[in-house]
Amino acid sequence: MPCLLWLHMQAAPKVMEPSESVMVCRECGATNRVSRERLPEAPTCGRCHTGLTPRAPVAITDGNWRVEVDASPLPVLVDFWAPWCGPCRTMAPVLDQLAAETAGRLKIAKLNVDENPEAAARFGVRAIPTFVLLDRGKALEEMRGAISKAALRSRLTPHI
Ligand SMILES: [Zn+2]
Repeated sequence: MPCLLWLHMQAAPKVMEPSESVMVCRECGATNRVSRERLPEAPTCGRCHTGLTPRAPVAITDGNWRVEVDASPLPVLVDFWAPWCGPCRTMAPVLDQLAAETAGRLKIAKLNVDENPEAAARFGVRAIPTFVLLDRGKALEEMRGAISKAALRSRLTPHI
């Protein structure tokens, strides 16, 4: 007896629309397909219902740069920082607020330069904090040193 579900799938193959992006749930690892237009609505994981678009800064590493930054469907603001850096710590609450305000439009990623020298070298980061806005791996903006939330926003707004 033929499998009706299989026949149905053959008849109507699921085609991935170009506006869809694949988002891997950071909680359970499930792969979710989300259309880019739905990202501002804070879509959740189909398996565990964790929010797929972070509302807080995400810690990234040299190891997951490709997944978290290059493959991100959202533009990513990378904060190159280190725990011993006073101005970096001053920026932390600003980034927390910005992440909540721009959820679904921007991802804020924090990269500890002491533990992840590769990305820092690639972007020529010699002083911290340095902020780089990337979209699909392409650097759009770069800001060096501590910066006010208003100034940061005005640099980001044209891109998000
Ligand atoms: Zn999940």
